Amino acid sequence: MSAELTLEGTSGGVFAKGRAEAVVRYTCNRCLVEWCESVAVNVAELLGDDGDYPLDGVEVDLEAPLRDAVVLALPLLPLCRPDCRGLCTTCGADLNTGSCPGHDDEPASPFAVLRHLLEP
Ligand SMILES: [Zn+2]
Ligand SMILES: [Zn+2]
Repeated sequence: MSAELTLEGTSGGVFAKGRAEAVVRYTCNRCLVEWCESVAVNVAELLGDDGDYPLDGVEVDLEAPLRDAVVLALPLLPLCRPDCRGLCTTCGADLNTGSCPGHDDEPASPFAVLRHLLEP
């Protein structure tokens, strides 16, 4: 994680402002593929008694606020790509790679009909 911050002393503590960058490991919410991506976030955080991150003596601990800023910027349900097709619920194959042979003996369900309607 790297950051470029300007620290400004205020009456309530230290105001940290700038940009932080971190490499984050994502796991696709649908197909469980993992990948790394760098995330840049803007940081504007008051460090001090009035803020969320109390100062510990004269040391300014920037790791917690930076980590929180990055975590907040992450998607709750990351997808490897917007149209990720996920895993086959029958055999667990990655549907993006087409390794699922398809299953003819799907149990009849109202959703099966729906899905055909939705297919382009
Ligand atoms: Zn995916
Ligand atoms: Zn399958």
